[in-house]
Amino acid sequence: MAAASRPTRPRTTVAVEDYLEKIEQLIQRKGYARVVDIAAGLKISQASVTAMVQRLDAGGFIKYEKYCGMVLTSSGLEVARRIAHRHQLLTAFLRVLGVADEKVIYNDVEGMEHHISPKTFKAIESLTRYLEKNPAVVTKLKADR
Ligand code: MN
Repeated sequence: MAAASRPTRPRTTVAVEDYLEKIEQLIQRKGYARVVDIAAGLKISQASVTAMVQRLDAGGFIKYEKYCGMVLTSSGLEVARRIAHRHQLLTAFLRVLGVADEKVIYNDVEGMEHHISPKTFKAIESLTRYLEKNPAVVTKLKADR
């Protein structure tokens, strides 16, 4: 591999992305993330969270010290921010389309944020920005269905 090549995006799973998203949220809100808070936030047992946190550390996404908590590495932060951005944008997309039930939006976004390709995401992002700037189009869209 050429030394100058752009580092490839780290391989992640849905679970890894959800954990990193939650850890970043906790750090933003409270200044730290503890196993007990992640367990409560993701509704998972503390034992499972501890096992996952050790995997995230081994994978280079976080630095975990048993009694001091954890911090995101730059790679962990990049994944967390990408998912958080997707979460925000996809929520805005479904709202502008007129999906009224916030619970439906949340559940759909939680799935979509992990599974949409970068190209499709970009396309949805442009469409969302366009619709937000052109409320008349949205009104017509809603009237037509
Ligand atoms: Mn999410």
